Amino acid sequence: MNIPALQTLPGKIENFIGGNWLAPVKGQYIGNVNPSTGETYSQTPDSTSEDVELAVKAAAAAYPAWSTTPLEERFIILNRIAELIDANLDALAMAETVDNGKPLWLSKKVDIARASSNFRFFATGIMHFAAESHQMEDKAINYTLRQPVGIVGCISPWNLPLYLFTWKIAPALAAGNCVIAKPSEVTPMTGYLLTHICKAAGLPDGVLNIIHGTGPATGSAIVAHPKIKAISFTGSTRAGKDIAAVAAPMFKKISLELGGKNPNIIFADCDWKKMIATTVQSSFSNQGQICLCGSRILIEKSIYEKFKAEFIERVQQITVGDPLDAATKMGAVVSKLHFDKVMGCIELAKQEGGTILLGGHAVQPEGRCANGYFIAPTIIEGLGPDCRTNMEEIFGPVVTLQPFETEAEALALANASEYGLAATIWTQDVSRANRMAMQVESGIIWVNTWLLRDLRTPFGGMKNSGVGREGGWDALRFFTEPKNVCIQL
Ligand code: NAD
Repeated sequence: MNIPALQTLPGKIENFIGGNWLAPVKGQYIGNVNPSTGETYSQTPDSTSEDVELAVKAAAAAYPAWSTTPLEERFIILNRIAELIDANLDALAMAETVDNGKPLWLSKKVDIARASSNFRFFATGIMHFAAESHQMEDKAINYTLRQPVGIVGCISPWNLPLYLFTWKIAPALAAGNCVIAKPSEVTPMTGYLLTHICKAAGLPDGVLNIIHGTGPATGSAIVAHPKIKAISFTGSTRAGKDIAAVAAPMFKKISLELGGKNPNIIFADCDWKKMIATTVQSSFSNQGQICLCGSRILIEKSIYEKFKAEFIERVQQITVGDPLDAATKMGAVVSKLHFDKVMGCIELAKQEGGTILLGGHAVQPEGRCANGYFIAPTIIEGLGPDCRTNMEEIFGPVVTLQPFETEAEALALANASEYGLAATIWTQDVSRANRMAMQVESGIIWVNTWLLRDLRTPFGGMKNSGVGREGGWDALRFFTEPKNVCIQL
């Protein structure tokens, strides 16, 4: 079923509260820019605590019924949402590309496809979710109830807009919570379009409320609201720190999926063809704006020069340009602000003594994208682990190359980071792969692959990359409160 509201992108979007589309209480909006053209094409609510208050009231009214809705009914509604996302794939993918700048084929293949998978996965997941029971010989039996937390907040970033938004919303709803959700103000469109899908799928009013606005005005009002009992956040480490400072003293449950500076560790005995092709992807997919991208490439010295030559040659072939063009491999970065940040990081790398092997400059396509924010894929060498370029997250199409001689040196370089989100290890030696996997300080390790995702696995980072895990039972446990009942026999 094609939903009419999804077919043309609106010039102004609204909050979705209690099943109604409402203008923000204070009537303020922010311009929403298409990063591939530089044009402001829509207006987004600049919501405040008053809007959050309305949403909390709507969620509180919906909670008694939704939290006791039979699992099979929740399954049916969430599954219907997944089906409607699939049925409207083209419209949603176009919206994501206009809003974010990523190639249209990528929006279709990854972003929107994964959004429907998220709903389908947790729709079925909740049907199989079970709690523990502990028997004390003939004395007593304990069983654990897993009840919904109540009203929960979900806040997501701009890099994989609908993909990450639904990765939080779907388990929260499946577990019986009512949700106040905020997509990034930089990419609000698909979050808005999702409201029309939820309405058409029969999700009861007030169960999901989507509020638009900035982090400081809207996001912080969600985090600070005393009736919102859990916060699931994906975004920068800086914002995660601010959120934890507010939420922790209020004893809220928090799940923080934060930044990364992921090592891609390449040993000489790797499967060369597979490694080199995958490393191009893990470096520059989505313009390097995936928290899981490998931005520090560590290469065994004996193959360093060979790697460098072939990597440069392959990356040179990446076409940067109009995201609507099927031949485009890299589109625009998400905003002017982010463009300036990434270009500033490249400048810093030069000041730190790095050599730009490829890229390092903006790209100006001809035609309709002439004013967009495009950056050439950039490869830098000559910098050690202690410089800012190798320590700070850039989150753009920029990677560094560093050689290593021994396994111990590779490990030291990999762990020389305050972040610990994901790592990739390329080797044919299974013992070494296991040794490295055990010692690399990351929540996610890929061996001889990248971004291969099983939604049942724990997803998240250690160190400054976050607290808690998403995915599978971890997500359903986060969005439920365990209550132990002990019965003496
Ligand atoms: P950001 O932290 O600026 O914003 C993320 C979201 O939080 C937005 O919706 C924003 O409005 C909101 N926000 C900002 N400050 C807030 C505050 N004080 N209180 C409440 N809400 C607030 O991040 P971004 O620039 O949108 O996204 C890029 C970052 O996200 C990168 O650091 C990237 O690594 C990270 N990220 C992490 C993962 C992961 O799974 N670990 C996935 C994707 C992106």
